[in-house]
Amino acid sequence: MGRESIIRAAREIYDDLDFQRVRDWLSQKPGTKAVGYLPVYAPRELIHACGLLPVGIHGGGDRVEIIKGDAFYQSYICHLPRSVVELGQSGRLDMLSGMLFPSTCDVIRNLSGMWKMLYPDQYVRYIDVPQIATPEIAIPFWEGELRHLLNDLAKLSGHHPSEDELRASLGLYNEVRAALRELYELRRTRPWDVPTEELYLLMRAGESIPPEDFLAMIQSYFRAIDDEPNRPRDNSRVIVVGSFCEQPPLGLIKTIERAGCYVVDDDFLIGNRFLTEDVELSGDPLSCLAESFVRDAVATSVIYEADPHGKRSEIKDKVDAAGADGVIFAAASFCDPALLDRPMLRTGAEAHDIPCIAFKFSENSGQFQQFREQAGTFSDSIKLWGGA
Ligand code: SF4
Repeated sequence: MGRESIIRAAREIYDDLDFQRVRDWLSQKPGTKAVGYLPVYAPRELIHACGLLPVGIHGGGDRVEIIKGDAFYQSYICHLPRSVVELGQSGRLDMLSGMLFPSTCDVIRNLSGMWKMLYPDQYVRYIDVPQIATPEIAIPFWEGELRHLLNDLAKLSGHHPSEDELRASLGLYNEVRAALRELYELRRTRPWDVPTEELYLLMRAGESIPPEDFLAMIQSYFRAIDDEPNRPRDNSRVIVVGSFCEQPPLGLIKTIERAGCYVVDDDFLIGNRFLTEDVELSGDPLSCLAESFVRDAVATSVIYEADPHGKRSEIKDKVDAAGADGVIFAAASFCDPALLDRPMLRTGAEAHDIPCIAFKFSENSGQFQQFREQAGTFSDSIKLWGGA
């Protein structure tokens, strides 16, 4: 399959707010169920091991008109929960048998309560991911939460996975994360061959299809980019920070690239690569998954950082690892975790003379001219003056 067909297939999945691929999967496997999860991190391995289909719910972007969603929230919060409510109230999520709400922020916590009231027949769980830096406390706590969740999911599916089945799911998701690391590494080294628009569409497709199919899709893409290389351009290299939950519209991602910036690292859909190392496959699977989260979670605003210097050095470390020239802080409007961290992150970046710009977006932003001007000027200034 060529690059164009792979990306077209991914785009179809991205555009389809009726989740037809999920519905097809369910009708092809009578008796099976699908479980949705909100950003940022949910242990998809457990959903998969129970024979359920994990489905990432990332809002309606700029493709859904909010009619009922606005009635549930005040005006000064982010857009994501409104469009998730809209998707639910318009029946587009009626194929889900459960929804997981990770403890990303108060907005998602509140949404989990609303969901329970709106959909009493669905399995709804608020997932309290650990925010304690002490492994001796955090690991047993998280393992207990995982065990509770596994038991609930097993009841929902009617299948309690054996240890070997759990290990197989952990191993599969290790492979998915390894493929994503390879994809990100390829974009770091050859950003002209892996445009961020394409990388992003692939990852969005991965939120609605089984992990086995996602892995196959990424492998086909690797072959396609080797067969159809692109020409390098004289772009600046930037990392995008702050878009870990509500997602920017695809038009914004394209705008950044077209303005002359190669995105060489980002935190879009960071939940799919939240664990930076493979989960250990020997030993009790739930202990291994809990340990992996506590020891190897990616540095991001939704996990408490105990070291006061950690936030200050985080951006420098990311810029160095990506070989980037600058940083674009791009967060959803009213996103508490991203915007509370931003001053610390930016201070840390500027202390190391790393050029930065910052803006806010909404998943339904439709005008990109101001972003184009900002990113274009930023790229030019980096090329002209570097870090000076
Ligand atoms: S965008 Fe930010 S504030 Fe909104 S739900 Fe996500 S983390 Fe919470």
